[in-house]
Parts: sequence; C-alpha cells; structure tokens
Amino acid sequence: AKAAGKGRYEYYQPRLSANLMDRLSREQALRRAIDKDEFLLHYQPRVDTFSGEIRSMEALVRWMNPEKGMIPPNDFIPLAEETGLILKLGQLVIDKVCAQLAEWQAQGLPVVPVSINVSPRQFSESSVDRQLADAVNRHQLDHSLIEVELTESCMMGEEVSVNAQLAAIEALGIKLLVDDFGTGYSCLSQLQRLEVDALKVDRAFTARLCASREGEALFMAILSMAHVLGLSVVAEGVETVEELRVLQALSCNEVQGYFISRPVPAANVPALLEKRFLF
Ligand code: C2E
Ligand code: CA
Ligand code: CA
Ligand code: CA
Repeated sequence: AKAAGKGRYEYYQPRLSANLMDRLSREQALRRAIDKDEFLLHYQPRVDTFSGEIRSMEALVRWMNPEKGMIPPNDFIPLAEETGLILKLGQLVIDKVCAQLAEWQAQGLPVVPVSINVSPRQFSESSVDRQLADAVNRHQLDHSLIEVELTESCMMGEEVSVNAQLAAIEALGIKLLVDDFGTGYSCLSQLQRLEVDALKVDRAFTARLCASREGEALFMAILSMAHVLGLSVVAEGVETVEELRVLQALSCNEVQGYFISRPVPAANVPALLEKRFLF
C-alpha cells in the first residue's frame, strides 16, 4: 500500500471541516425548526394481547420540514440529544401531547393514555416531573392520561435528581415504562425499587420469537422475570399474526407493532379509538 505521509493530513483536513460544517448547519436547521415549531406527533396504539382493547398510544415525533417533507425521528433525535436541543424539543412534545389530549376530550372522544418518550438528558438537565405536572394542570387533564417511556440508561445513573424525578413522576400517578428493554443494562433491583410499571421488550426479541426455539425461550425468560417482579410486559414490533399467537401463548400482556397498527397522524386517532381489534 502507498505510504500516506504528509498527503494524508492534507486529504483529511478538508473532509473533517466539511463534516463539521454539515453538522453545524444541521444543528442550526434543527434549532430553527424548534423555534418555528415544525414538529407533529403520530400515535401508535398498544393493545391488550387477549382482548385487543387499546391500552395506550405512543406519541412519536416527526419533523415536517418545508423543503424535505417528513423527517423521521432517527434522523434528528440523536443530533438533538448530542446538542442539548432535546431539552426544548422534549418540552415541546410534552405540551403537544397534553394539548392534543385536551382537544380529544373536548370532542368527547373515549381517550386512552398517551406515552411520551423521554431521553436521559431530559432527566439530568431539566425537571421532567415538573414539566409534566405543569402541562397536565394547564390542560386540566387527569394524570393517568400520561405515561413516560424511559430507556434503561436513565435508571442506571447514580444521579440523585434523576431518581427523585422518577419517584415524583410515580407519585403523580404517571406510569413508567422501560423502553427497548433488553438492549441496555438494567438491574432487577432498580426495576423493583423505582416501581416501574411495565417493560417494553425491544423488537429485536419479538423478531426472534418465531425464528428459533431459543428466541421463544428468551422471551419466555423475560416474561417470567417481569411477572415475578409484578411488571407488565409489552412486546414491541409485532408484525405478524404468528408472533401475536406465540405472545398470546406466552401470556405477554400487551402488544404493539405494524400488525396491529402503524403510527398514525392525530387526525386518524378518532377512527382508531373506535376500532375493535379482534384477535
Ligand atoms: P421507539 O421509542 O422504540 O419507538 C418505536 C419505533 O419503532 C417507532 O419508530 C415506530 O414507528 C417503530 N415501529 C413500531 N412498530 C413497528 C413494527 O412492527 N416494525 C418495525 N420495523 N418498526 C416498528 P419512529 O417513530 O421512527 O421512532 C424512532 C425512535 O425515535 C423511537 O424509538 C424513539 O426512540 C425516538 N423518538 C420518537 N419520538 C420521540 C420523542 O418525542 N422524544 C424522544 N426523546 N425520542 C423520540
Ligand atoms: Ca418508545
Ligand atoms: Ca422501543
Ligand atoms: Ca407505578
């Protein structure tokens, strides 16, 4: 191979700054989008595995970019987390969920709770408990209409303030769900102490359910552990009827995924709430 020598530095330097420029402009675009509020929420139901009744809907943010159209969260949430913009965006999402719930209630719809995804940084750098309490009061909602999805990494820190916030959220009567369960590291004592209500098992585990005996055995192990701890279990990413049948056989409590419904815009929620999912 050719020795890189000096040329290497000259070659990489402009690329590096191009990346940096790109990052800065992406950050600026996101900042502007937050100021102009170019975000909206889609909702994906979570249903009882046996009755098919909707238990809750997850709020999933989308960026409506005037030029590029709808941008999915995986394309901007990581940047928002790195830059701290997630703090503003997170507050925006909380307000939107509460405003939307109040609107649906005013329309007389049979509303169900909405779960909100909260990033670790929101817990460590803002008061999520206070933001939730404020928004719920401002819109005169029942606390039980809000649920919080946190990742395992939120619970692992030693930060006293994070634990205090989780306890405060619990005390408000807001359910706590551990998102993407199985992809991080949570210890059983944390799950129990923080009075988490449910585990959302990452869809990687659901995908393996029908692929092998091991996949099914693994899911079964998670279920029995969770049930011993008194936790409810949600299977994420259920895409086929076969997966649903196995989850019913294993007594998984709730399911979510494209087989039941894709995330839908707010305008489609009234129809969704009237729909009967017959399993
Ligand atoms: P998540 O919280 O794990 O949400 C589930 C993601 O899986 C969603 O992608 C959903 O559309 C997708 N999904 C649902 N069912 C299925 C299925 O059956 N098969 C497959 N292949 N995918 C399914 P989405 O909406 O693109 O969101 C991606 C991630 O962005 C979310 O993952 C969450 O981590 C993050 N996110 C979304 N909204 C927010 C938010 O308001 N705040 C924060 N902090 N993060 C958010
Ligand atoms: Ca989630
Ligand atoms: Ca998830
Ligand atoms: Ca609880």
